[in-house]
Amino acid sequence: MKKLSGIAAAPGLAFGPATIIRPATAIDLTAKHTGDSESEQSRLTTAIEHAIVQMDTLQHAANKQTAEILAAQREMLDDPELKEGAEAQIAAGLTAEAAITTIAEEYAVQLAQIDDPYLAARAEDVREAGRRIVAQLRGSSFEIHLTQPTVLVAQDLSPAETVGLDINLLQAIVTEHGSATGHLAIVAQGLGIPAVVGTPEALRAITEGSVVIVDGNTGTVIVAPDEQALAEAESSIKQAQQARQEQELYREQRGLTADGVHIEVFANIASQAEAQKAVTMGAEGVGLFRTELLATRGLPTEEAQYAIYREVAATLQRPLIIRTFDIGGDKPVPGLNIPSEDNPFLGWRGIRLGLDRPQEVFLPQIRAILRAAADYDLRIMLPMIADPDEVAEARVLIDSALEDLLSEGHTARRVPIGIMVETPAAALAIDQYVGLIDFASIGTNDLTQYTYAVDRTNAQVQKRAQPLGTALLRLIALTCKAEIPVAVCGQLASNEQAIPILVGLGVRELSVAPARIPEVKRTLATLTLSEMQALAQAAIKTR
Ligand code: PEP
Ligand code: MG
Repeated sequence: MKKLSGIAAAPGLAFGPATIIRPATAIDLTAKHTGDSESEQSRLTTAIEHAIVQMDTLQHAANKQTAEILAAQREMLDDPELKEGAEAQIAAGLTAEAAITTIAEEYAVQLAQIDDPYLAARAEDVREAGRRIVAQLRGSSFEIHLTQPTVLVAQDLSPAETVGLDINLLQAIVTEHGSATGHLAIVAQGLGIPAVVGTPEALRAITEGSVVIVDGNTGTVIVAPDEQALAEAESSIKQAQQARQEQELYREQRGLTADGVHIEVFANIASQAEAQKAVTMGAEGVGLFRTELLATRGLPTEEAQYAIYREVAATLQRPLIIRTFDIGGDKPVPGLNIPSEDNPFLGWRGIRLGLDRPQEVFLPQIRAILRAAADYDLRIMLPMIADPDEVAEARVLIDSALEDLLSEGHTARRVPIGIMVETPAAALAIDQYVGLIDFASIGTNDLTQYTYAVDRTNAQVQKRAQPLGTALLRLIALTCKAEIPVAVCGQLASNEQAIPILVGLGVRELSVAPARIPEVKRTLATLTLSEMQALAQAAIKTR
């Protein structure tokens, strides 16, 4: 038995006999053709045409995510620059295989150097296009055919190679290359197949047919497991299956404690696609729409925002809490000309920027929300509040926006207004907000960083942040004491250990990533409200 460590790329646990995919033999980049350049160039043209036809077939068979990746690779196959570059190399004497590989690599290196993550990521698409053309030139197959339940072990797997795979037989994937955010990880997650990538010794340590346990949650691979390891894996897989089946039952139900107290389970979203996912997963509403993520290429206009909010609300057909732009901190927006700051998390962030630049930032968004609210249940949530005066100032702007809209002849509606409790200042003085706001939602991600003075992006100090520490729980308890409905929309809202404590302290809405909704509902159903209250009381007293 041997344990290998890699990168967890797609969650889940599975085991099975290994099928090894060895990398194709390397191309001799100096190989010269022996015939004339024209016939070598026509070999290349035919290979490109065949590769394109094959790619079109694969794209049709692929699921949506994989099809998008394949579309990018197909574009590269058709790229005139790639073809002309290779033809010039053939004219200089190289074989078609050597020519296309050389040019694809040069092109990929150029792309990888561009200071734009989208273009840099296309480097792999070019290499893949080159490999596909070479496979056609060699007459070798690119497809992998499975005949029995299998763990695929390879140096790397391209999205195209995964398309034809029978997912009833494919148990898991292990690769030597790859990253947690790479194409293979996206494809494996989409297929629901556990995957561990970046496992450098995989091809040396695993032999064809040997049994392999793949843990895509932790990034570990056990080769030739003993009986005990195998039995443990089997029982974990059974448990996970059971948990999944149980969670399915909760999807369509409301969030209820064991004694039937309703705790709303809402979703955090940042796009229309996530709104759709929220509905599918059984969200009772959206508790946090992170709108600043609509502005990664600059602020959208009022009209563009109006269209987006209407579209999302129409998809949801349930309450939608829109957080006004939380720009700043680790979420910069281009085009706003914000001077760089020494401490961006303590800087010109969230409501501060909105109030200081109302015409440009705050008001177009408010107008779009109030207009979309004419037909839907929308609510406004203000981020990074540290003082009640900020809310009062925002309310004046919101009221004047409504007046303006009505006098301009728009249909618009007054909506509930809430705040994010993300600063200790807001939690400690929450009583001063009574009458000013309709609801509060605790952003535990920021409240934790500001309470423990731990930068949420600094891995070095993360262990000093205590999401279930006494100080943080006391701030939450204090927030819940005010006569204001309280939600939690930070990561803590989906933490199994934290949920009973939060509810026990008085939280009545949990807003979480769409995928977590069924499991949050299941956790809620495990205890009665009084049991949760007892846990909460113990948690805020003890260290
Ligand atoms: C939070 O701070 O907990 C929160 C939900 O907001 P964000 O993570 O977007 O800062
Ligand atoms: Mg926050």
